[in-house]
Amino acid sequence: MFSFSSFRFLLVFVILTSTLSINSQKRIVKDYNIHKMSNSFMDNISDELYKITNYVESDGSFHIKSEINTNEAEVLKSLGLTNDFDFKLKRTSKSYIDSEVTYKFYQQYYKNLLVDGGGYLTTMKNSKLVKFAPNLYLDLNISIHPTLFDLELRNVLDIDNIMKKELIITCRFGGKSKLVYEINYFKNGNKKAIIDAHTGEIYEDITTNTPLLASTFQYGTVLFNNYNVNGVSHLSSSDNRIRIYQGININSQPWSWDTNLIPTTTNLFGWDNGIVWDLSKQALYVTEKVDNIFSTHLDITFPEIRVGTYLGANAWAGPFSNADIVLGTLNNNPSGPNFALYDIVAHELGHVSLYNTPLYYTPGNQNATLHEGLADIYGTYVESFILGSTDWRAGGENSLIFDKNEKRDHTVQYCYNPSSSSDHEKGKAISHWFYAITVGIPGMPGMPETTIESIGSIEDSKTLVFEAINRLNDPYSGIFRFKELTL
Ligand SMILES: [Zn+2]
Repeated sequence: MFSFSSFRFLLVFVILTSTLSINSQKRIVKDYNIHKMSNSFMDNISDELYKITNYVESDGSFHIKSEINTNEAEVLKSLGLTNDFDFKLKRTSKSYIDSEVTYKFYQQYYKNLLVDGGGYLTTMKNSKLVKFAPNLYLDLNISIHPTLFDLELRNVLDIDNIMKKELIITCRFGGKSKLVYEINYFKNGNKKAIIDAHTGEIYEDITTNTPLLASTFQYGTVLFNNYNVNGVSHLSSSDNRIRIYQGININSQPWSWDTNLIPTTTNLFGWDNGIVWDLSKQALYVTEKVDNIFSTHLDITFPEIRVGTYLGANAWAGPFSNADIVLGTLNNNPSGPNFALYDIVAHELGHVSLYNTPLYYTPGNQNATLHEGLADIYGTYVESFILGSTDWRAGGENSLIFDKNEKRDHTVQYCYNPSSSSDHEKGKAISHWFYAITVGIPGMPGMPETTIESIGSIEDSKTLVFEAINRLNDPYSGIFRFKELTL
């Protein structure tokens, strides 16, 4: 039989067990995305911590019991922190959803050295600490005295100057705390390296250039990664291969590429200081994209591209084999519609590529016609990858530029007229053919034999064209010779 006394015993036992179960949860299983070495207090939650919270979450954060008024120092003590650690307030921000809530983030230090990624976030509601979210590195029993210094560090990085250097502690490499240098230096761009303060091992080496904002007429505000020397940004690509020369004199031949014409800035945020033309910024933006398609889709790489900008309404490719182009703007307005458009820049770089084939350009002759027709094919092809499609109009992205650019619409049927005075105009014999074989053209009514079938995609057409360019064996070739080469 069940006696009363044994029932009472059982009841006491059950109460005891449930009380124990709260305090016996000593180890909290850590979330997979929390660093293995952080918040080691979760391996063995102290009784002090359970005095101020009921529950520690899997990321180590916990709410403070509503009846407990405590402060950060007491909380840190309950987490087992010694006097070797201290913290600096890095950020205070107000909640967007609860006006009574403020967040504060603190950076962790160990013996006055910054602990990489270490710190904690507090949530204050009406001045009461309500939540504590630590990301603390507590097992840092390492010497804070380095054995390598400037000379060795410069040798490791192969540099003459260190811009900035800080000794820090990190747990990001190899599952152990390490004493490392964080070094800012310049070598083909701004760099930051993490180097072991004892062995000289480079754990990380990254480029730290922050993109600069630049407004353009056609493409709004864009971001640049520019070439930077000791804090001075140049209006050029990050490798300094594509450079903008603002205000080049197109009348002095050969063009003078004076490096003083390359705009520079020490502004950390952008180029919109009023001195640099929207045309110049747009020229860099467009040329970088076009150059990328040349190398990725056409396997054509230019050792360098010099882009001159000027206040006049045209675009040119230089007469030599270097990739030198000049881009102008309408109405002498450096902030208005201009020739720095994808298909126009690709057209000019196409001329450069053809000069190098070599295919010569004799104005008025058939080779000039072929040059212009093929240059428009470069323009169309490159544009189709940057914009996702092409409008088959030279400079068609801007209707005013299209008008100024001889209104070359490659969809419109064109018959070669050798007496025309415009090589661009005559080039439509080639560019319209490219359109016809890419898209196809329906035949005239009742004349199915006039139908032109598409040969497939723009890629198929490009293969045909570029293989024919490969086979050019006469630099004075014209459109009829080219026609034979495509057959
Ligand atoms: Zn041209």
